[in-house]
Amino acid sequence: MNYLRRRLSDSTFISNLPNGYMTDLQRPDPAQPPPPASSTPAKSPTAAPTPPATSPAPEKKPQPAQSTGAGFFSSITNVVKQTAASAGLVEQTQVTTPKKFKILLVIDEPQQEWAKLFRGKKVHGDYDIKVEQAEFNDINVVAHANGTCIVNMQALRNGTKVVRSFKPDFVLIRQHAFSMTQNEDFRNMIIGLQYGGVPSINSLESIYNLCDKPWAFAQLINTCRKLGVDKFPLIEQTFYPNYKEMVSMPSFPVVVKIGHAHSGIGKVKVDNHTKFQDIASVVALTQTYSTTEPLIDSKYDIRIQKIGTDYKAYMRTSISGNWKTNTGSAMLEQVAMTDRYKVWVDTCSEIFGGLEICAVKAIHGKDGRDYITEVVGSSMPLVGEHQNEDRQLIADLVLAKMNQIASNEANAPQRPTTVQPSQGAGQKGDITADGIKNGVGRPPQGCLQYILDCNGVAVGPKSVQAN
Ligand code: ATP
Repeated sequence: MNYLRRRLSDSTFISNLPNGYMTDLQRPDPAQPPPPASSTPAKSPTAAPTPPATSPAPEKKPQPAQSTGAGFFSSITNVVKQTAASAGLVEQTQVTTPKKFKILLVIDEPQQEWAKLFRGKKVHGDYDIKVEQAEFNDINVVAHANGTCIVNMQALRNGTKVVRSFKPDFVLIRQHAFSMTQNEDFRNMIIGLQYGGVPSINSLESIYNLCDKPWAFAQLINTCRKLGVDKFPLIEQTFYPNYKEMVSMPSFPVVVKIGHAHSGIGKVKVDNHTKFQDIASVVALTQTYSTTEPLIDSKYDIRIQKIGTDYKAYMRTSISGNWKTNTGSAMLEQVAMTDRYKVWVDTCSEIFGGLEICAVKAIHGKDGRDYITEVVGSSMPLVGEHQNEDRQLIADLVLAKMNQIASNEANAPQRPTTVQPSQGAGQKGDITADGIKNGVGRPPQGCLQYILDCNGVAVGPKSVQAN
């Protein structure tokens, strides 16, 4: 009892409860115990009108906490039930009234407001799009082999941290899933989304594959072999799995690229043997791979981007004189899209099963030659004056893909067995106002099921009950 009191007075615990948990705790208990859950649409919170695309779920005003023992126990019972429900460990009532929206999860910085690009847009004629936007840092994913995938998203509401849970119908990933700088390894989220079968742009498979630059470079080597170095002028590169092999000396000057990082991080210009040995000793501490490539005496950087069927080419020239044009100040200009550039980006857009959004990076040397260095995917930062247009193109691409998926679902043969609410209809992953998910997160059949305590620790075998 005291333990539970302590847990419930712990603000971290409270703030981590999904929608409705805290409000339920603070709501005065009714004189009669609440009736068993009914799926009658009129009573179901999910039957409420569809909220606008970005608006958070309606909040209840916190009421002063009840001090009566009965209220306290009732609240605890609800919390335990709801915790178990959110973990998918109790039977839950199916909601019969379908919600007419699809949930689009966008992984991006908050400054980029994706919701406004989808306002008023419909999927398959009649589903609104509800955009849930968060950074990788603020989400977590639980996926089951039966195809359910729940995203738990931390958000600040009136200064309080709350967790919203939902089942995404589609995901757009605009942030790097991996960087070897601190706390930037989100590949586990990509795995979770893939495990839960969430469709996405670019494909989750390609996003995972682009999480190691040398792994992606290996694809470019294949492309270069197929097209020839004249058509696809890939830079020469050497891969070292760890520092131990960094004894054979390249011809200097070289650029050493350590591990997988972005924005110029981990890229070092090395002029001679002594410095190369110094860098090898630093690589020894990193426990990762590195690559070397000749330092190109560069005139400008080239970036060819492709978003769906839209192509743009840019050149970037350093102003501050830094050999890395993405460090310090630089000038960016849009340049004409040539057939040569188109071949580069088209062939790159075919790797890893296809990249709907991608860019090829190259360096144009003072020797007049081009050197392709890298391909980047849907997390590529947008550049130049046409960023708004590019964002709109990405949104259009997402909408087209969501529509395609919806019509495939509509045309799929109906199963004669128990009716499952389709994705989006009935939104199995929604947290209702009292915090109970609608038929989500059920463990696969045949699994042992347990009730969890407030810490998520199994405390006993499951007793199946409908709320
Ligand atoms: P991103 O952030 O786009 O993932 P990055 O900044 O981590 O990439 P690179 O683009 O490989 O890594 O390198 C940064 C910059 O350094 C390039 O934009 C280019 O100006 C310069 N650079 C990279 N490789 C070379 C090279 N071999 N020779 C000359 N300059 C180079």
